[in-house]
Amino acid sequence: MQNLETICIQGGWQPKKGEPRVLPIYQSTTFKYETSEQMGKLFDLEDSGYFYTRLQNPTNDAVASKIAALEGGVAAMLTSSGQAANYYAIFNICESGGHVVCSAPIYGGTFNLFSVTMKKMGIDFTFVDPDASYEELAKAFKPNTKAVFAETISNPSLVVLDIEKFAKLAHDHGVPLILDNTFATPIMCRPFEFGADIVTHSTTKYMDGHAMAVGGCIVDSGNFDWEANADKFPGLTAPDPSYHGIVYTQKFGKAAYITKATVQLMRDLGSIQSPQNAFLTNIGLETLALRMERHCYNAQKVAEYLEKSDKIAWVNYCGLPTNKYYGLAQKYMPKGSCGVISFGLKGGRDVSIRFMDNLKLATIVTHVADARTSVLHPASHTHRQLTEEQLIEAGVQPDLIRFSVGIENVDDIIADIEQALDAALNA
Ligand SMILES: *Cc1c(COP(=O)(O)O)cnc(C)c1O
Repeated sequence: MQNLETICIQGGWQPKKGEPRVLPIYQSTTFKYETSEQMGKLFDLEDSGYFYTRLQNPTNDAVASKIAALEGGVAAMLTSSGQAANYYAIFNICESGGHVVCSAPIYGGTFNLFSVTMKKMGIDFTFVDPDASYEELAKAFKPNTKAVFAETISNPSLVVLDIEKFAKLAHDHGVPLILDNTFATPIMCRPFEFGADIVTHSTTKYMDGHAMAVGGCIVDSGNFDWEANADKFPGLTAPDPSYHGIVYTQKFGKAAYITKATVQLMRDLGSIQSPQNAFLTNIGLETLALRMERHCYNAQKVAEYLEKSDKIAWVNYCGLPTNKYYGLAQKYMPKGSCGVISFGLKGGRDVSIRFMDNLKLATIVTHVADARTSVLHPASHTHRQLTEEQLIEAGVQPDLIRFSVGIENVDDIIADIEQALDAALNA
């Protein structure tokens, strides 16, 4: 089973004789054993098996293994949200006193998590310009740096990351590259092929695709050599007192990182995805390849329409040959990038807001990467807390409209934009 379209449908759940064809929802917190000893071995990680859904659940594991296969990783873990995925992905290898080099243009929620909440935990982040040279970026590293974090395509500024440059930077400094691949999805970009070590997702977005279930995922490539940098990662390479002194790299090899995230962080912090949500995410995953193709086709058409319109001040979509990131997008995601476009209207912020209020098919929602076309004004909504200066640093111009192109007929989407532009400018 090699091709992504096939994995979307057939990956994960593999029913045996007489078992349900469709992934069942294992709506059970607990799992039964015959002897006390059997259960004891599970607690010691001497045997593998389900015992409590906070650690592992068969529905969740089937979905996680499908996502791992799509990304080409060794294993994955579902989380309750994308926020939990990014938090765990870092905290699994970076504790109080540690430092992370982070690309500045990232999702607003992740920026808050890193710069406010994780800072309170004693973790320090240096935010860097992803377009800076290797030499410039190398200056951000410190002796206590434990990871590099970035987004493949940043939300909402749509910066395409030079993944190989970032992977080299991370590896030259003995740390892994963690990439949030939410916008591209593995259908359009598989970051492990370009040197990323860990991938995270907000499955809430394209993977679900129907705005039904909040969820997240962490995928481990299995490629990072923790032992070679053992002094930086004692959590993986030294005994864990909460499991009678096991050493994750010795016991779990390539799956050391993701096993620790599951049996230690998930055990202790508990942000699990409910099996019900995992089931819904799986339905979304079945059509992910088909939907991404249509999202990208539609977004390209809408971007081309906007670029030609005399009512638009600027358009940002990496599928346009005039775009700053066109070359990187062609290199890392030649089949297409994502369905999200941003643009600003001539006349600035007020006209932009009038435009949004006049849209009929595209709806104003705090959501993105959905089958339905949706629209948001980050400066008034998701990034409301940020100052004008912070907005610019996060790559969010005050007049930026984030337009998430759905999978409706693109002629209808463009017609809606056209009538709203007329209404906004003639008001
Ligand atoms: C939405 C989003 C998140 C957060 O995910 P939730 O599922 O909303 O918690 C993280 N990263 C990116 C790129 C996102 O778009």
